[in-house]
Formats: sequence, C-alpha cells, structure tokens
Amino acid sequence: MILKLNTSVHSAEAAKLAEQHKAFHISYKGSEHLITSSSVKEVPAALEGKVDQNWVFANDMQLASREFQKETREVKIGDLTIGGNSKNTILIGGPCSVESLEQIQESAQLIKSLGLTTLRGGCYKPRTSPYSFQGLGLEGLKLLAQMRKEHGLSVITEVRDATHVDEVIEHSDIIQIGAKAMYDQGILRACAKINKPVLLKRGFGSTLQEFVQAAEFILAGGNDQVILCERGIRTFETKTRFTLDLCGVAYLQEYTNLPIVLDPSHALGYRYGVEKLAKACVAMGIDGLIIEAHPDPSVAKSDAAQQLTHDQFRAMKSAIEPVANSVGYKIV
Ligand code: PEP
Ligand code: MN
Repeated sequence: MILKLNTSVHSAEAAKLAEQHKAFHISYKGSEHLITSSSVKEVPAALEGKVDQNWVFANDMQLASREFQKETREVKIGDLTIGGNSKNTILIGGPCSVESLEQIQESAQLIKSLGLTTLRGGCYKPRTSPYSFQGLGLEGLKLLAQMRKEHGLSVITEVRDATHVDEVIEHSDIIQIGAKAMYDQGILRACAKINKPVLLKRGFGSTLQEFVQAAEFILAGGNDQVILCERGIRTFETKTRFTLDLCGVAYLQEYTNLPIVLDPSHALGYRYGVEKLAKACVAMGIDGLIIEAHPDPSVAKSDAAQQLTHDQFRAMKSAIEPVANSVGYKIV
C-alpha cells in the first residue's frame, strides 16, 4: 500500500508514522510524503485525516507500477530529460572498461562529435574470472570525471559491490548497477539515498517481478530516478551470449512507470548484430540505448567481441535515427 500524506504532515512526523506502522519508507520531493508498505492494506486509524490518497496493490510492484503513476517517470540526465512526454531515446556509448586516458579521450570525442551527451565506461568490472582485467577502479573514475569536465559530458559507470558505492556516486552522473549486482542490498539501499539517476540492470537470471522489486528498493528508499535496463537473460541458447528479452520490455512498458534503456551489446555478445538489434529496440519506442564501442576493439581488456568500432558506432547511430523517428522518438 502507498499512502500519500497531507502536505500539512511534516517530515519528522511522517518518519514517526512510518516507523509506527512498520512501513518501509517515507520520501519525497519537498512537502510531499509517501509511505509504502506491503504489510499494511488499510489506512491505519492513527493516520485518519492525514492521508490525501492511498493505493492498494496485489503484489510488491507499487511505486514502479502504472497503477500508482500512469505516466512514465521523467528522469533528468544533465540537461536532457528521458521519460515523461519527452519522446527522447538517449544513446549512451563508450567502452566496456575505462583503460587509459588516451582510450577514454577518444571515446569522449566520439560521443561529443555525434552530438550525444553521455559517456559510459566501467571502472569496477564484475568479471566472471579473478584472472581477467578487473578495471582501473578509482583511477578510472577520475579519468571519467576528467572527461565530464573537459567535454561537458554526463558519465555513467557501474558499481560492482557496496564497498565502493560512495566513490561511484561521487564521480558519476548516473550510477549503473550491474546485472550481477542487481540483488546487492548494500548498493540498492545506498542508491536509494541519493539524488542522482540510477540505471538498474536486470540480473540475467532474474524474473521481471524480481527486477522490478529491486527497483522498488531504490524508489521506496526515496530516490525516484530509476531507469530499468534490459541487457539479456540466460536461456538454453549458447550461440549468442544472452537472449535480449523484448517480450519483457513490452511487459515493463505496459505495467511499470520507469524509463527503459536497452543494452544490445551485452545481450548478443558479438558486434556483428548490434546495429540490427539496436534498430529492433528503438522500434519499440524506448527511452534509451547503451552500446559499447572501443577505439580498437581488438585490444579491449573486456568484452572485446561485442564492442563496436567507432566507425560502426557512427553507422549504427545513422541507422537507428529513422527508426526512432518512425515511432515518434528522437535519438539524443
Ligand atoms: C557492462 O556494462 O560492461 C556490464 C558488465 O554489464 P552487465 O552488468 O549487464 O553484465
Ligand atoms: Mn561490458
């Protein structure tokens, strides 16, 4: 249940009420307070007269649901808005990992030269093997921050576990929660307390319900800027790295109010089909795409097989633009 309290209820009083009623959160913009709980199904007597509106839900999809808010939430990334009525499809690009100043500098120039705004690059890599490149850590974050300053770009980078969540929050404009970290309570709760957008990737073995519940931790903790990212799930198929769940995207668009970004790079795992997949994604009228590109993929330290060359990235952008326009969206 979600309770929207009267504006006359002050923050301290709202906190006390939430505590008393075992509700999980109070948040929100200025004077508007929401209390969310799955245990409370009726307005408690003590709250009579203090509640403006209430919603009861059959399951734990609450703040993220279209029943609670019909319109897709607006999320601001720098000067750009996605969701709401924006009809923007943000194209985020850059390497899998930040590897050197030279490499990230070239990547930033690519993004800038295409009129795009947001650069990706991992610094804490959630690798499957301890013997693979683990990322540059703080040094990488500083390189990203330098790109932000020099090129006026927004930057997105991933948090691998709760030990460095504060560092990532400090140095990036969008916090990416990686697929393997989707269930990390430390990360989810830390990201709930900040005022920056969070891109939550779907765990590759997670159901849509679990995915949205993870988003609810962030929303219910007080951060309403959550973006869902479908990046492929594991199926019986082994020829491709994962299977991009476009049915899941249709479901999320129908039932949730969160902007949706798609990641065809990690789903397919090979650069040969990324452009075609990106066209299919954009045709669904989505809020964004995140695509890996490297100045020289043959020497990339992670995800070498799937990163586009910069020429391929430029060609991909030109190819998806008319598709986005045909469904009333624009690539930004
Ligand atoms: C990445 O974006 O480079 C990454 C590791 O993604 P995922 O968490 O989806 O595997
Ligand atoms: Mn990657």
